[in-house]
Amino acid sequence: MNATQIDRTQIESLVRQAIQQSLGGGPSVAADGSASPPGWVNGKPNLRVSISARHVHLTDEHVETLFGPGAVLEPEKPLYQDGFYAAKQTVMVVGPRRRMLPSVRVLGPTRSASQVELAFTDSISLGIDAPVRHSGKIDDTPGCVLVGPAGTVQLDRGVIRAARHVHMNFADADFYGVADGDMMQLKITSNDCSTVFENLLVRADKAAKLEVHIDTDEGNACHLDRASKVELTKSGCSCKA
Ligand SMILES: [Zn+2]
Repeated sequence: MNATQIDRTQIESLVRQAIQQSLGGGPSVAADGSASPPGWVNGKPNLRVSISARHVHLTDEHVETLFGPGAVLEPEKPLYQDGFYAAKQTVMVVGPRRRMLPSVRVLGPTRSASQVELAFTDSISLGIDAPVRHSGKIDDTPGCVLVGPAGTVQLDRGVIRAARHVHMNFADADFYGVADGDMMQLKITSNDCSTVFENLLVRADKAAKLEVHIDTDEGNACHLDRASKVELTKSGCSCKA
């Protein structure tokens, strides 16, 4: 290979990279031209642990009821997972005996069923006994009232404490030796309050980036903001770090 060919290879790689970036998403392209899975850095999974604060998912119909005819969710801030966002809109969540949370963020895009995800502390202040559930599993869960600037929605069900889970793509799953639906554990090393979380459900998807979601109570319990180390392992793994 002569110098001209090397240059051409490098140029092609840079062009591919630029095209991928301008399209947004898709696998990133390493300097050698090989595709790297979503979220990987330097050829390895890049673990991120995020606190998922209380939020609401809405159907298209409920967006219009709460925010007016023709209203749609307006993205304000993208989430780490591509295609998902915090919307500009918030709603009031009302529980029994007029207890309420005045301003709960709506996350987009819209879904086929509306759902309210709270931390345990939130559910206590609302007076709703919300069960721990994985997103979308809302049979036999309590409801609440949502209040927006244009109207009100009575939810018959859908108030949950979101069960801790980890998003990942299939390359991440291979790396950890797990599959969609498996359980993992997360160790957070933090001054005076190191914590091991069990029962993290693996949610594997082609486009997902490696990210653990815990709620605000869990994040506060282990002082996640000050954590010095986070380690994700397959449940039942006897290997020592
Ligand atoms: Zn999540």
